[in-house]
Amino acid sequence: MDYLCNHCEVQLSKFEMQLNEQFPIGKLLCEFCSNKKEREIIKQLADSEADMHNDYTRDLVGDKNETY
Ligand SMILES: [Zn+2]
Repeated sequence: MDYLCNHCEVQLSKFEMQLNEQFPIGKLLCEFCSNKKEREIIKQLADSEADMHNDYTRDLVGDKNETY
C-alpha cells in the first residue's frame, strides 16, 4: 500500500514512513512538509509564549493600578 503526504500528496519513502511512525503528529507528512509543519508549531509556541508574557505583564500593571 502506498502512503501519500497529507499535505502535498507526494508518495512517502520508507524513511519518511519511519519518521511518521517515530514522530506521529496525526497526519502523514513527507519530510519537507513535516519540517515546514515543525517550524509552524515552533512559531506558534513562540507566539503563544510571547502572548502569555504580555498578559502577565498587563496583569501585574493592572493589579498595581487597582491597588494604589
Ligand atoms: Zn508533503
